[in-house]
Amino acid sequence: MSEVRTPPVVAALDIGGTKTAAALVTRQGEVVDRITVPTPGRAGATAIIDTAADLVARLRARAMGTRVSALGVGSAGVIDHRTGRVLSATDALAGWAGTDLSGRLRALLDLPVTAINDVHAHALGEARHGAAAGHQTLLLIAVGTGIGASFVVDGSALTGAHSAAGHAGHQPSPYAGRLRCTCGGQGHLEAIASGPGLAEEYARRTGQPVGDLRAVAVRAADGDPIAREVVLLGGAAVGSAVGGLVNMLDPAVVVIGGGVAGLGDAWWQALRDAVRRETLPVLDDVPVLASTLGSDAPLLGAAALAWEGTA
Ligand SMILES: [Zn+2]
Repeated sequence: MSEVRTPPVVAALDIGGTKTAAALVTRQGEVVDRITVPTPGRAGATAIIDTAADLVARLRARAMGTRVSALGVGSAGVIDHRTGRVLSATDALAGWAGTDLSGRLRALLDLPVTAINDVHAHALGEARHGAAAGHQTLLLIAVGTGIGASFVVDGSALTGAHSAAGHAGHQPSPYAGRLRCTCGGQGHLEAIASGPGLAEEYARRTGQPVGDLRAVAVRAADGDPIAREVVLLGGAAVGSAVGGLVNMLDPAVVVIGGGVAGLGDAWWQALRDAVRRETLPVLDDVPVLASTLGSDAPLLGAAALAWEGTA
């Protein structure tokens, strides 16, 4: 037999509310193959696990001759990083809470499995291979359907005493008034500055319901002054929260990701202005950067975790 020339890889999974992605990743963070499919979120935990395991099995079959040594998983929900169990999850993933995520994938795939929340995986990806590479500490904020955060120190995400660290969307925001939040609370950042939060704010101001944030973005680009105000409000609300977190954590760099960060220059300027209004003078120069890895970030972070567990 000839020598295998392909570099060794690990498998990585990103299990989200709408899609599940799998990839094979080298130690250097190169994605050598990938598959993405819709997550069967309403079909229950077994369907979600089976879909994810099938993606990994298909990638292994396609990578003939390449050794896949471990699996890293980033998943929506609160994940106990030590046990790999899902502690809680939103309704987007039916029956996900209580699932032994790592154990069931290990049994199906016969691989060592490490699992972590997807926002923490995203941050680990940016810390290892993306916008924060080379920095000792990173504060990542992901702004999308929800708002999550992760603080990474020396390559490890702080997951907290209850695995629930990073719920940045569920802190009080002066921009949110008494708006109802998805968590059941009131006046939280996510209620005003998430994608659905901004779409609802536009509907409240105009009396015109819109499908989602994309519709608001289109109207803002067309010169609709209320749509532009809502975009600026979203950037300012996130920036205000980021500024407070920077004062608390003093990160070397802040990275902003998620779909809402694609709103464009006006949103970003409002965000940066608000960060500077809040930060202490000694922290004025903390860089606030855009995610550079995009949707690959959670996969690369999950892969980095898997590599940590290999010899
Ligand atoms: Zn909340």
